[in-house]
Amino acid sequence: MSLKVLKFGGSSVANKTLLFKVANIIINQYLSGNDIVAVVSAQGKTTNELVKKSQEINEFASAREMDVLLSTGEQASVALLCMAVEKLGFKAISLLGWQIGFGTDSEHQNARIKRLTTKRIRKELKKNNIVIVAGFQGINDWEDITTLGRGGSDTSAVAISAAMNADACVIYTDVDGVYDMDPNKFPNAKKFSKISYDFMLDLTASGTKVLNHRAVEMAKKYSVEIKVLSTFTENEGTIVSGRVHK
Ligand code: ASP
Ligand code: MG
Repeated sequence: MSLKVLKFGGSSVANKTLLFKVANIIINQYLSGNDIVAVVSAQGKTTNELVKKSQEINEFASAREMDVLLSTGEQASVALLCMAVEKLGFKAISLLGWQIGFGTDSEHQNARIKRLTTKRIRKELKKNNIVIVAGFQGINDWEDITTLGRGGSDTSAVAISAAMNADACVIYTDVDGVYDMDPNKFPNAKKFSKISYDFMLDLTASGTKVLNHRAVEMAKKYSVEIKVLSTFTENEGTIVSGRVHK
């Protein structure tokens, strides 16, 4: 049995139709005989909306309370995605950062991962559950909720892949891979089928949003091969690994 970590960004789970689309992707991979850990972001623009709400109350809100607030976006999306999987007749369980011992430092709103216990995830997989984990959030040594910085769910997925020695780490997003230029602005942008961690790091450093910079750093450190695929098309994506030098 192989273990797949599948990460779905906010635009992939933005509404009911998409939640069922994602649930079907997960179930298909599950039925092909894989253990599945899905890592999910907050729906659509939820995180931005929560930031806006906080500013209406206090533009100097403490970072600790910002984390309590922003982490609710992922809490809602994992529950809704589980409900969609259950509705389709399969067993799923949602887990929040603290439930999987996603330990970070105390740098609220930009926390770094320190350790990760995989016991609970493994226990649920053993029960044949599809495991759906809230991205972006962790817990510090004082049991306070932390978040990993905007776009941090990619890093959650890579960290879980590394800790569990997953057979695949797939990042599903709204573009079908990594391009040399923004494909929405430049119609002749070229898609890479494979690129190296270092080249990907250059791209994220110069503003490419398809993957989070820290996620790529972590992938490089622990040799996690990342596959970038689109939730919306069947197109072949991009593999980010240490093996190609381009
Ligand atoms: N929901 C968070 C954000 O919007 C984390 C993520 O999407 O990766 O930044
Ligand atoms: Mg993202």
